[in-house]
Amino acid sequence: MLMARLLALSALSCAPASVATDEAALAQARERMVADQIEAREVRDAKALAALRKVPRHLFVPPGLVAESYDDHPLPIGHGQTISQPYIVAFMTEALGLRGGETVLEVGTGSGYQAAVLAEIAARVFTIEIVEPLALEAKERLLRLGYRNVEVRAGDGYQGWPEAAPFAGIMVTAAAPRIPEPLKAQLADGGRLVIPVGDEYQELVVLTRRGTRFEQRSVLPVRFVPMTGEIRK
Ligand code: SAH
Repeated sequence: MLMARLLALSALSCAPASVATDEAALAQARERMVADQIEAREVRDAKALAALRKVPRHLFVPPGLVAESYDDHPLPIGHGQTISQPYIVAFMTEALGLRGGETVLEVGTGSGYQAAVLAEIAARVFTIEIVEPLALEAKERLLRLGYRNVEVRAGDGYQGWPEAAPFAGIMVTAAAPRIPEPLKAQLADGGRLVIPVGDEYQELVVLTRRGTRFEQRSVLPVRFVPMTGEIRK
């Protein structure tokens, strides 16, 4: 009798409960991602951590990969491109050193995930993607999720976004053989450019503008998809 009632109850609650559990499970996976992959590896920036806790990464991956969206690795997003590993997104966000309220540029929109993370911190985010279908997809996704402070452009990010410059932060999420000069020129005084530099072997470089001088340091060995377009000419 009791058994029968329990069964009946669980049958009744089945449809709505499984949706709720899914969302709850994803939120829990996101929380674990931040604690185990990011805080455990000593990313400390409070704004970066809060942004990674908030942005629903599972909505930036192809539907078949949702279950893996909070795992400790990059994932394919189509067109031979990837969404970066969560730790790398957090590390690069911290490296940009934003305080909140800035105008920033991203080159390599991909899924739009990193742009959303930046949009949680900065006032305005400009992002450029060279693969047009990815740019359109990211633009729609960011709108749908309510990110009104992000502008997506399809094109080559090599020349930056001069009309929106100067930028307090510029992040490039594809590996370049050298630092694009136009991007350096669009950096505000005191601003930082974070970019993976190299081919087979790549290092994440942080370039800080001090007036007419630039301070450069390498902070982490990384592996990104190559930057294409004008930088290869
Ligand atoms: N930041 C992305 C991941 C980027 S993968 C995310 O959060 O999902 C790198 C992206 O850079 C790819 O989508 C690739 O097409 C793009 N890319 C490569 N060269 C580029 C260029 N010259 N200008 C703009 N985007 C470029």
